[in-house]
Amino acid sequence: MKTPDAIVVGAGIVGAACARALARDDRRVLVLDAAPGTAGGATAAGMGHIIITDDSEAQFELCHRSQQLWDELAPEFPVGVQRDECGCVWVAVDDEDLEAAQQKRDYYAARGIRAEVLDQRQLREAEPALAHELVGGLRVPGDTVVYPPAAAEWLLAETERRDGQIRRNAEVVAVASGAVTLADGSALSAPIIVNAAGDRALHLLPDPRLHDLVRPRKGHLAITERGRPLIRHQVAELGYFRSAHGANQSSVAFNVQPRTTGQTLIGSSRQFGATHRAVDHGILARMLERAMELLPGLADLRVIRTWTGFRAATADKLPYIGPVPGHEGLFVATGHEGLGITTSLGTGGIIAAQVRGETPFIDAAPYRLDRPVAEWSVA
Ligand SMILES: Cc1cc2nc3c(=O)[nH]c(=O)nc-3n(C[C@H](O)[C@H](O)[C@H](O)COP(=O)(O)OP(=O)(O)OC[C@H]3O[C@@H](n4cnc5c(N)ncnc54)[C@H](O)[C@@H]3O)c2cc1C
Repeated sequence: MKTPDAIVVGAGIVGAACARALARDDRRVLVLDAAPGTAGGATAAGMGHIIITDDSEAQFELCHRSQQLWDELAPEFPVGVQRDECGCVWVAVDDEDLEAAQQKRDYYAARGIRAEVLDQRQLREAEPALAHELVGGLRVPGDTVVYPPAAAEWLLAETERRDGQIRRNAEVVAVASGAVTLADGSALSAPIIVNAAGDRALHLLPDPRLHDLVRPRKGHLAITERGRPLIRHQVAELGYFRSAHGANQSSVAFNVQPRTTGQTLIGSSRQFGATHRAVDHGILARMLERAMELLPGLADLRVIRTWTGFRAATADKLPYIGPVPGHEGLFVATGHEGLGITTSLGTGGIIAAQVRGETPFIDAAPYRLDRPVAEWSVA
């Protein structure tokens, strides 16, 4: 390849989305990834729920715009991306949850997002296999599902089609203005460098004070054999948000997805301080017990694979997207925690706009790397 106009470090969904966005601006993009194959990091582990959240205005904006971009791209996806317009049902286990459902519905309605509160009968009609004690829920019809590694591959293929190149087995040990250093000691240069190396990204920056801004947060998943689908929507408990935001070292929450293959994907857990990839059977058991409690029919299905992945978590629950202050042409895109599949396309759009020197389509200030540092709620 001739000298690239931009180097993207990391071929996960975020790096892939940044690469495609830059390539669409006629930049020759070189993508480097340490792993030998597709999506060696969180992207290979994620559930692929393309979701709207009301976590914060900044998170909502990024999810909403990204979801629109996913919808716009949908006609171009190959079958392998397994896009499913299944919508999502958030289930309420008690009246407190039902109140949260109503608040979410109002929040979304005020922003033009369709969502409907379901009472107990309506929930049973929508998802007959769910536990009958559930008191209701919230249906968000616009949420979709993709198969993340295939989506990342497609974004990378689009980059290659526009004169880009993907290099695997290319571990980067440092990024700087205009250059990256590889583990074999060689250096590659380009005027634009985008550091999208997932939970490792900030460790590639020279300033060690930045390294702890992102911490790995382990998650477990399990998938069943193929069979008659138990559910029609992505189904998760409203308490999932408490699990995602909680200060606990470890938590599990019901989050189950119908796959277009006829399988059921079961999640998920959250763990700080666990750095080993191995499945923790205690956590897995808690996660499966919770899933069977709310979706009893799961007990009749065989789980054929379990695995783990690491979300790149930040203390204030927002990703870092944008320039690295003091380093001309160096950008970062990391810290997307459990929303990186959803927000990848918006992230790519923000980075591409910033590289062009334009104001992005949403206010990117909340994602700046030099925003005030929040306190971690866990040790
Ligand atoms: C259990 C679980 C469930 C999830 N479910 C969802 C969901 O339903 N919806 C959603 O939106 N998100 C979900 N997520 C989150 C989502 O998977 C991540 O936010 C997203 O994949 C992050 O993408 P990324 O490209 O930033 O990072 P990664 O996918 O981790 O990619 C980083 C890439 O950088 C490479 N790399 C790392 N270090 C180096 C280096 N030194 N040199 C070169 N390359 C390097 C890695 O090999 C990797 O390929 C889930 C995550 C988990 C763990």
